[in-house]
Amino acid sequence: MARVIIAGGGLAGSEAAWQLAEQGIPVTLFEMRPQRSTPAHKTDRLAELVCSNSLKSDTPGSASWLLKEELRRGGSLLMRVAREAAVPGGAALAVDRERFAGLVTEAMEAHPRIAVRREELVEIPADTLVLLATGPLTSDALAARLQALTGVEHLAFYDAISPIVEAETLNLERIFPASRYGKGGDGDYLNCPLNEAEYRAFYEALRSAEAVLRHPFEDVRYFEACLPIEELARRGVDTLRFGPMKPVGLIDPRTGRQPYAVVQLRPENLRFSSYNLVGFQNHLKFPEQKRILRLIPGLENAEFLRFGQIHRNTYINAPRLLAPDLSLRSAPNVFIAGQLSGVEGYVECIATGWLAGLAMAARVKREAFAPPPRSTAIGSLVHYITHADSSSYQPANISFDLLPPLEDQPRRMVRDRQARRRLQCQRALEDFGRWLAGIRPPTFGQDQPLAWGASQGVTAL
Ligand SMILES: Cc1cc2nc3c(=O)[nH]c(=O)nc-3n(C[C@H](O)[C@H](O)[C@H](O)COP(=O)(O)OP(=O)(O)OC[C@H]3O[C@@H](n4cnc5c(N)ncnc54)[C@H](O)[C@@H]3O)c2cc1C
Repeated sequence: MARVIIAGGGLAGSEAAWQLAEQGIPVTLFEMRPQRSTPAHKTDRLAELVCSNSLKSDTPGSASWLLKEELRRGGSLLMRVAREAAVPGGAALAVDRERFAGLVTEAMEAHPRIAVRREELVEIPADTLVLLATGPLTSDALAARLQALTGVEHLAFYDAISPIVEAETLNLERIFPASRYGKGGDGDYLNCPLNEAEYRAFYEALRSAEAVLRHPFEDVRYFEACLPIEELARRGVDTLRFGPMKPVGLIDPRTGRQPYAVVQLRPENLRFSSYNLVGFQNHLKFPEQKRILRLIPGLENAEFLRFGQIHRNTYINAPRLLAPDLSLRSAPNVFIAGQLSGVEGYVECIATGWLAGLAMAARVKREAFAPPPRSTAIGSLVHYITHADSSSYQPANISFDLLPPLEDQPRRMVRDRQARRRLQCQRALEDFGRWLAGIRPPTFGQDQPLAWGASQGVTAL
């Protein structure tokens, strides 16, 4: 059977290699460490967790749990290893990072169909199936090749993302809908008006806020159009009022006047279930963001689905480039997974690696392949990266916002948010089970002990 190449033995690449190998397909896994390291990795292990040791919430009913649960049911190696390496983490699935990476490395190196090559992949082969899973710190040489393949404008090298707030938690008594100068629909933006005293209080809080410590490799030079709000505040007391908080063209219907400053909220989706704080990318610690952003009128009790962040991150403009099986539309032999494919977060990277592994296996076997339905966590993540607005594409974590709302249960009948989410999870797992049954024999994904196909002389399938 044709050998498949995977570049990057991180979270996505390791999971993909395992899925392919377990389906009988030989894999060569290129990992450039330790010959060449990244500024974030510290060891030569595969699947090294570069920062936190948390794979986020494992509380049933949460979006992050749903994603993990689908992966567990789908036979994910890294989810099994995570359970083996788990340490107490409260509601989160936390792992002993050394044991986690050690077990994955052992599994990869022992598998008879996986050849691990400690080498940088510098060319993208044109005649072989290849998965690029080289992560947010993809080597320069490979990034240049990918840029040549996809077009310069479709590869980003850092992320400056704004916070996202949950619509249900907005105080609409203080907020008014309007587009600047009345251009566009009235519902296009929500506006949080600040008077002078409120603006000054916000400005002072921002000036004294604690920023996240930067790694040396995160010393990005910001585009002037994309400056973090704390940097704008450093430039002067009015800089924000002439930048992302400018009030011109906006009249508060309650006062009939232009406010002193405004924070604009732009809908994240057509359901208007969440809003982006326009131009509010920042590098503040998450608890600081929560404290300071809640000073904005209308956001007093806001719950944030995502906080602002700025960090080095190589990723493609997935909605422009990727097909639903995670292959490049313009070069169908090239698949992309992990952070490079435009998702964000450890488990999201594992999930796209898992999916790419299955999609590539189907391609090798000349079988048709479609990702899980949109109602599932994995399906909604893939739907997001392949259908989001490509003109302002930003990577995403899994959240309920990506999942379609319940169709058969009108919102008013399931008022309680937690109850709605439980129903969304239930629907997701049922749909995922049906999808899985369609592509796998019934034994697939059953909870097996952590025994590698290689060391047992058998494959898990
Ligand atoms: C500093 C930092 C901290 C982060 N912290 C968190 C966090 O706390 N929680 C979270 O959920 N997410 C975090 N992320 C985001 C993301 O989840 C992780 O980066 C995750 O490890 C990405 O998985 P991946 O499989 O895409 O890439 P990686 O796990 O980074 O794996 C990519 C691998 O490819 C190798 N490689 C690169 N170029 C080549 C090449 N040309 N040839 C061969 N090998 C190559 C690298 O050495 C690396 O081993 C963080 C990201 C960064 C940069």
